[in-house]
Amino acid sequence: MMLPRRYLLRRGLAASFLLPGLVVPGIAEAGRRVKHPPHKSPAAALPLVVIDPGHGGKDPGAIGITGLYEKHVAFATATELAHLLTASGKYHVAMTRTSDRFIPLEHRVDFAHSKRADLFVSMHADALPDPFVRGASVYTMANKASDHQTALLAERENSADRFGALNFHAEPPIVANILTSLLEKETKTCSARMAHSVVKNLGRELPLLVNPSRQARFVVLSAADIPSVLVEMGFMSNRKDEAALHRADHRRLIAQSMKNAVDAYFETTAAFTRLPG
Ligand SMILES: [Zn+2]
Repeated sequence: MMLPRRYLLRRGLAASFLLPGLVVPGIAEAGRRVKHPPHKSPAAALPLVVIDPGHGGKDPGAIGITGLYEKHVAFATATELAHLLTASGKYHVAMTRTSDRFIPLEHRVDFAHSKRADLFVSMHADALPDPFVRGASVYTMANKASDHQTALLAERENSADRFGALNFHAEPPIVANILTSLLEKETKTCSARMAHSVVKNLGRELPLLVNPSRQARFVVLSAADIPSVLVEMGFMSNRKDEAALHRADHRRLIAQSMKNAVDAYFETTAAFTRLPG
């Protein structure tokens, strides 16, 4: 049986930490789970999608022209998407928040790691200084922003709290270092594929931002081993977008399009194979 490259990388990375003297704090536990895989039911092999409704609690996110809070739009749409994915029977789904509460950005990434997510989707509807800018867009991680507008957006999103990405305090052993680098590249490729799928599917139903697939250093996308995208469903700073996001039927349309995007992503990638345990 041919094993997907991504599976080999993830398994190899975990296993490399089992070697005596090659244990990196925080990863050792993952290695132990690989060493003693428990019995898995067929359902356990389903890919796990983590949906992240942006903001929450004391952080309202962007506030629209009529006073609509981004955190409520994000939560309502993310919940709808979670229901659609679960109902399909093709995925396990977990949400970073299931109520209106504040969660630091790094905790959202930690949550996805703890669940061993196969895909991470963060849902937002932010604001921009220009009230005429509208349309949906999707973002992936990059150290350098693709454009000034996206740099501002990332700055705004990241201001929710301080950076808290993967922390490899110890110098990684050489084998793990190589595997980490390969896995990061693989994750980047998968994230780009998911972004492409989002643009294609959202674009069928919604107006899109010019150049709708963009990159910047978003903290919430910092998991080096989990394909991750951040979706801006529209901008609360635009009158038409805010009015649309206010409507349940419009949010349902977004959720359905996002579900189609997830389907297309997993149909075209062998990336979802999960580590045992
Ligand atoms: Zn946001």
